[in-house]
Amino acid sequence: MPVRYGIVCDRCRMLHLISGGRKAHHIRYDRKRREFTANCIPPCPNTIYFQRTMLMPYVVPDEAVQRGYADVDDCRPIARSE
Ligand SMILES: [Zn+2]
Repeated sequence: MPVRYGIVCDRCRMLHLISGGRKAHHIRYDRKRREFTANCIPPCPNTIYFQRTMLMPYVVPDEAVQRGYADVDDCRPIARSE
């Protein structure tokens, strides 16, 4: 299973994946704020603001890579300290 960096929505626990060949269309970099913004997936109205340093690596299902997001319960975080 692939490993991707992502950020979790506090509101609905959706994991948004950052890395990969194509850019996720719902994530963009705001040059003025110097941070990323991710619009969560409807019906969740949340917008996530984050820095690159806040991203965490996860082992994610293959289909999540295609979609660009996944339920965080379907993903396994990789501890940085190991
Ligand atoms: Zn959400």
